[in-house]
Amino acid sequence: MIAAQLLAYYFTELKDDQLKKIDKYLYSMRLSDDTVKDIMGRFRREMENGLSRDTNPTATVKMLPTFVRSIPDGSEKGDFIALDLGGSNFRILRVKVTQDKKQPVQMESQVYETPDDIIHGSGSRLFDHVADCLGDFMEKQKIKDKKLPVGFTFSFPCAQSKLDEAVLVTWTKKFKASGVEGMDVVKLLNKAIKKRGVRTGTNACYMEELRHIDLVEGDEGRMCINTEWGAFGDNGLIEDIRTEFDREIDRGSINPGKQLFEKMASGMYMGELVRLILVKMAKEGLLFEGRITPELLTKGKIETKHVSAIEKTKEGLKKCMEILTRLGVEPSDEDCLAVQHVCTIVSFRSANLIAATLGGILARLKENKGVARLRTTVGIDGSLYKMHPQYARRLHKTVRRLVPDSDVRFLLSESGSAKGAAMVTAVAYRLTEQARQIQQTMAEFRLSKAQLLEVKKRMRVEIERGLKKDSHKEATVKMLPTFVRSTPDGTENGDFLALDLGGTNFRVLLVKIRGGKKRSVEMHNKIYAIPIEVMQGTGEELFDHIVHCISDFLDYMGMKSARLPLGFTFSFPCHQTSLDAGILVTWTKGFKATDCEGEDVVELLRDAIKRKEEFELDVVAIVNDTVGTMMTCAYEEPTCEVGLIAGTGSNACYMEETKNIEIVDGTEGRMCVNMEWGAFGDNGCLDDIRTRYDQAVDENSLNEGKQRYEKMCSGMYLGEIVRQILIDLTKRGFLFRGQISETLKTRGIFETKFLSQIESDRLALLQVRAILQQLGLDSTCDDSIIVKEVCGTVSRRAAQICGAGMAAVVDKIRENRGMDHLDITVGVDGTLYKLHPHFSRIFQQTVKELAPKCDVNFLLSEDGSGKGAALITAVGCRQRELEAQQH
Ligand code: ADP
Ligand code: MG
Repeated sequence: MIAAQLLAYYFTELKDDQLKKIDKYLYSMRLSDDTVKDIMGRFRREMENGLSRDTNPTATVKMLPTFVRSIPDGSEKGDFIALDLGGSNFRILRVKVTQDKKQPVQMESQVYETPDDIIHGSGSRLFDHVADCLGDFMEKQKIKDKKLPVGFTFSFPCAQSKLDEAVLVTWTKKFKASGVEGMDVVKLLNKAIKKRGVRTGTNACYMEELRHIDLVEGDEGRMCINTEWGAFGDNGLIEDIRTEFDREIDRGSINPGKQLFEKMASGMYMGELVRLILVKMAKEGLLFEGRITPELLTKGKIETKHVSAIEKTKEGLKKCMEILTRLGVEPSDEDCLAVQHVCTIVSFRSANLIAATLGGILARLKENKGVARLRTTVGIDGSLYKMHPQYARRLHKTVRRLVPDSDVRFLLSESGSAKGAAMVTAVAYRLTEQARQIQQTMAEFRLSKAQLLEVKKRMRVEIERGLKKDSHKEATVKMLPTFVRSTPDGTENGDFLALDLGGTNFRVLLVKIRGGKKRSVEMHNKIYAIPIEVMQGTGEELFDHIVHCISDFLDYMGMKSARLPLGFTFSFPCHQTSLDAGILVTWTKGFKATDCEGEDVVELLRDAIKRKEEFELDVVAIVNDTVGTMMTCAYEEPTCEVGLIAGTGSNACYMEETKNIEIVDGTEGRMCVNMEWGAFGDNGCLDDIRTRYDQAVDENSLNEGKQRYEKMCSGMYLGEIVRQILIDLTKRGFLFRGQISETLKTRGIFETKFLSQIESDRLALLQVRAILQQLGLDSTCDDSIIVKEVCGTVSRRAAQICGAGMAAVVDKIRENRGMDHLDITVGVDGTLYKLHPHFSRIFQQTVKELAPKCDVNFLLSEDGSGKGAALITAVGCRQRELEAQQH
């Protein structure tokens, strides 16, 4: 009895002694707690480098956003197969998730027939069918040997209690296969698909708060980040803990210098590490009495599964004996004991290293969440964790030590990578499908050059119809004569009053023009509001209000008795028979006062002045704002013979040959034509490019069916188009969590100035979101991305079709003059043109592309409506004097 104890004691002593020797020998493989903690700190810094834009390019831990917002399992390598059962078709897809920002998810897919007898047959037949199709798909894709994770989108109500389980509650739609309800469909699927090989290699995923991912702009929500931690240390950061064995492994690998952390920690290299150690020890006579066999020297002869087997508590030593015997080294009992200890050291180091990086991630998560105690679940996959007898326990223990205030649950992913991948692929698929549908919607707004040329051509047709006597009456583009026959020549002189009605504000101006050598224009103006009830009340009320404002202005300037000549900028389509007579064709934009259409607005103004009986004015000219704009620019730049407004509305004017304007007598010289091109398309000629959103905007407007072109390209409507699209996308569940808020239902909330802000290149996504939030639209970052794209698409189309119209105009002028090449200036006004970050550029580009024979210069007008009206009035006064002299 005592002897036996003694003997046992003796052996223990011997064993301890032996193990201590090995510990000493492999001291560089044994990481102290402090070292592990230190590695964790280094890894955290590397993660931060990977996450930040500046340091990402050189960071070793790339922290790749997967663009998949879902709980990951850490297994995705970016290439998945997704099965989609339950939609109208059974589809198999191959989904590649890449870091390409433009095209993060690529897909190839195939639809498989699912005959009714299978849909209504037995469950096992159904899943066999699915597996057969999968086999076929993989063969066709040539990925039979690729071990891709398979995800399963199963669109039926399922109860999910675990990460790996989806129990079918009940079949819906046309499905009715027997024996499936109440069963775990993931399991059924996995049974049908033969399990594919064991996974090795180490890689982790976790949920990163989006606000820390610079590469993916954003601040909320989470995204699966593929840490790609295998490359940790590739920049020399863990040199101090690498051993000669690690270096040897690296040298013999296919990618020396790369994936250094992975080579130390992952199961793939573990057996090899052990073998290299054994070789060295044998060479030094520390093992196998120095025996070295060719098998021992053969790479790969000791595998990770051997390490697992050797470390088994009960039978480990026996296994060790078997394995070593097979290597021909004739091991002794002590050898086996020693080799077992070597294995322990190597696998322990691996667990420590993984714990350090995992700990780094968890510590970061904890910090992100700002909680005192982190509760989280880590999904783990990989054979080492699963098969190795001690590995999991060691890993858990170390992680808990490293991140003390945490409740970390480790969940083994039962079916290999399937479920995690299923979630990832399902989400990726849904996102891709969603993105596809959004793009499809946007595609209607993306016009090709051919389409734009067609718009140009049609504009030209409508221009001709407006100019010709026979067709003028029904023409949509009215081509209204303005009786402005020349641009200013610089001799204009005098004090003039100007009114500007039809824009955002109503203004009264005093314009002092001095001609000759010291040319100058001095302006004083006051802005008056026109309440909406006046804009849409009676005509008398509207004009009384205007006169009231004039009266106030004259008082303000102390000029009530001056009887000044007045130019009336009235930015609506008017039939003019002279410079000072204009019959309103139709209200546009926000105006709808009664008893005005069909009336001469100059008379309406004169009547109102009479009613007031306070002052007298000489109304000389009625002026369209496009003409005012052209005139203002022409005052500075004589080649300016076109005017464009891209503001609340959209319109243009240009100098046409008088002989071409058939409704005006005379064949001499030129006259400015107010095109009123906003009505382009009112005869249906643009219907093929109008979308249902344009129609909705039209239906919601004050003037349904009218100004269709304007409604596609002017400031008053762009926001409305955007709003209509957003409503639709929300209804389809792609935006705002599918919730249509009261705000979104409100007409006009989306002012064009918000489009300008949202589309600004300088704006980060976060700021876009802030703008939307200001508008009362509670949006996520994903929403913001979509909204920004919608805005950009709508304003781009606006600029393009506006440019197509302008191309038609300048080409017409060129042809009028029989020139091969025309140099011309366009005077432009309008806040959309001036303040939108992209409109003017895209507009100019389009004109250039569609009218290549014209060199068009664009000049911004400074207050065309005021200055222009005064200039026209001055020109008009001069003309009048000339006529008086002639009579
Ligand atoms: P109007 O055309 O009414 O004479 P503007 O040329 O100033 O006056 O245009 C005003 C219109 O411009 C507004 O109705 C709005 O649609 C648009 N707008 C206002 N602010 C911006 C902005 N920051 N960016 C683009 N468009 C704007
Ligand atoms: Mg204006």
